[in-house]
Amino acid sequence: MVSTGRGDRPRQPAGPIRCFSEGDQPLTCTFTPAIQPADTKPRPTWYFAFQGRRLLLFGNGRASALPGDADLRELAIELSGGHYLGRHGEQDCYALALPEDWQPPRDLQLVPLRRLYGQFSEDLVGLCGRAVQIIEWDQTHRYCSRCGAPTRTSTEERAKQCPRCGLLAYPRLSPAVIVLVERGDRVLLARSPHFPPGMHSVLAGFVEPGENLEQAAAREIAEEVNVRVRDLTYFGSQPWPFSHSLMLGFTATYAGGDLQLDGKEIEAADWYLADRLPLIPGPGSIARQLIDWFVDKHRKGCRHEDS
Ligand SMILES: [Zn+2]
Repeated sequence: MVSTGRGDRPRQPAGPIRCFSEGDQPLTCTFTPAIQPADTKPRPTWYFAFQGRRLLLFGNGRASALPGDADLRELAIELSGGHYLGRHGEQDCYALALPEDWQPPRDLQLVPLRRLYGQFSEDLVGLCGRAVQIIEWDQTHRYCSRCGAPTRTSTEERAKQCPRCGLLAYPRLSPAVIVLVERGDRVLLARSPHFPPGMHSVLAGFVEPGENLEQAAAREIAEEVNVRVRDLTYFGSQPWPFSHSLMLGFTATYAGGDLQLDGKEIEAADWYLADRLPLIPGPGSIARQLIDWFVDKHRKGCRHEDS
């Protein structure tokens, strides 16, 4: 059975995942979303300009890696298709799709979105994810999915509306649970056939219609490795724009079942000691934050026993 017991687990994860809140401080956010600027006052701009899933950035040596409107005008890039995202500090932020065949000049580069994790602060990575998802939503909702008529972009909210049948289409989000399962001093790590060679991680899966998060976590773990869990405890969340997920992280305790792999989504799984881990995901992902939490907890436990 899955419960939402708290035990001695953290309610907040450690590390950069917690960038909007420190300790008992109130949650704050440096970004104010909007679909159009609140006024006409000229402000500095940041353009999150993507070619597919690659972001346009200046090289080293500039105050901002992100180009502004003047930079893009100099490059003769058309700005009228940009989407206003909101304001980050004093910067008005826009998302913009670059033409597929456009090549950046020498002092600019197109950087894969994944490479920004661990390099940009979390709020900036979040803005990149927001930008790329709004561009994709714009490109994939030009026609009504019910009646086929061309849609219009709403001026009231971030939505596409069908003028014929009234259907509204919002940017899509797919919640997914990601769960670190502990069994004594060991952690369950598994690998999907899609992972880079040797890499293992905690289990994750999408929430299905009609499920709550606890049911989704219990189902995914049982389906993939035949393990039952208890004490499911919220850890933290992370937007994950590959392609439009919201990862909801949990810790859980083993409650029964022998490891049996489903053979499709999971090709290997085992229980690992904190100091005997296989290759794990790089910094920046909530998967890594969960694993770091486990390692840190057992390292502290070792120090305690030593003292
Ligand atoms: Zn329609």
